[in-house]
Amino acid sequence: MPEKILEVEMVTPEKISFREAADFVVIPAFQGELGVLPGHTPCLVQLKGGEVRVKKDGKVHHFAISGGFAEIKKNKVSLFAETAEMASEIDSERARQALERAKVEMSKEGLDPLTLAGAEASMRRAQIRLQVAAKRNR
Ligand code: ATP
Repeated sequence: MPEKILEVEMVTPEKISFREAADFVVIPAFQGELGVLPGHTPCLVQLKGGEVRVKKDGKVHHFAISGGFAEIKKNKVSLFAETAEMASEIDSERARQALERAKVEMSKEGLDPLTLAGAEASMRRAQIRLQVAAKRNR
């Protein structure tokens, strides 16, 4: 009988934010969303900022992550991300403020490319957090 459970772990430089058995996980791979079931072909995948969905016992848990990479083994997915927050952990007001700050920064004239790229990345992180926070308790 094949093993039907997938171990999913999310690791950031700060902590192991999540480690649980799951039935299915969807990750924001650089080339598009990737669904992983137990028995997946082992591979390394580059991650972009986005939403991770972990399905277990019919329930879906939503996470916001920043970029990183994922190591997929037959029955284990390890996500190594710069940041990761469970939907319920996200402070929406903080994300709204970060989004506003980024927009103000981006509206300034004569920004150097590095500052502009930083503001764009900040805006993207805040948008992802707001999208994922809206899915809490679903
Ligand atoms: P901010 O300007 O609000 O700090 P940021 O995008 O610069 O946002 P990051 O550098 O991506 O923040 O993250 C720093 C730490 O703060 C990480 O541990 C991340 O998980 C956490 N974090 C950032 N924003 C939020 C949020 N809205 N709710 C909960 N945790 C957050």
